[in-house]
Amino acid sequence: MLKVEQLHAGYGSLEVLHGISFEVPQGAIVAILGSNGAGKTTLMRALSGLIPIKSGSVELAGKPLGRLSAERRLREGLALVPEGRDLFGSLTVRENLLMGAYTRHSHAEIEHDIERMLERFPRLKTRLHAHAASLSGGEGQMLAIGRALMSHPRLLLLDEPSHGLAPIIVETVFEVIEQLNREEGLTIVLVEQNAHQALDVAHSAYILQGGSIVLNGEATTLTANSAVQELYMGG
Ligand code: ATP
Repeated sequence: MLKVEQLHAGYGSLEVLHGISFEVPQGAIVAILGSNGAGKTTLMRALSGLIPIKSGSVELAGKPLGRLSAERRLREGLALVPEGRDLFGSLTVRENLLMGAYTRHSHAEIEHDIERMLERFPRLKTRLHAHAASLSGGEGQMLAIGRALMSHPRLLLLDEPSHGLAPIIVETVFEVIEQLNREEGLTIVLVEQNAHQALDVAHSAYILQGGSIVLNGEATTLTANSAVQELYMGG
């Protein structure tokens, strides 16, 4: 579904990603793990077209994304749930969901999808007309995921979905991620510092260190790897 080869990207003259290559099979959850400053958010931004790629290639379902804008990438089926969620705080929950569907046209289909989102995220139903700024961290993360799903993505990029959430809420968020994959076959790339949870739901994972992939493998193999345990799972 996604093929990334020798991706170099960064900010101005600062190169943060030094030739990243990885693949995401259709229907898989792939985790990209790394500590603070490893380049995880930069990778998400480069994949979703928010910063330019200096060199290398990104293909979605066989189609090169090249220098396509973020909006064109969204239309191609690549949606990002950004770090910190980036909700429209002064808009309501419903309006945020509608914003997620801005590339689509059928009013009836959009309304139908809002209903589906509210079934999947019942908390949002009770908060439908509340401003997004008033949501709790967990509700906000659900809304950010719901908003991204409203674009009908083929591939969902999640940038640190556990960030800033209480452990019990993190569990719920990861359950949702697993359900979306299992029940709807959604292909997911998950960027996380929280290696425990990420390796629990992912099929395979890549370890990003200083802007390079230093290790990759099946999630179960990496979970058993002593270096991974020591560096990313608190021993
Ligand atoms: P975190 O978990 O802290 O978000 P990360 O793995 O997502 O870490 P990035 O945010 O991708 O890491 O940052 C990688 C490097 O790029 C860091 O050295 C950071 O200082 C730098 N960087 C990030 N954003 C910018 C920016 N807008 N301009 C310049 N440098 C940046």
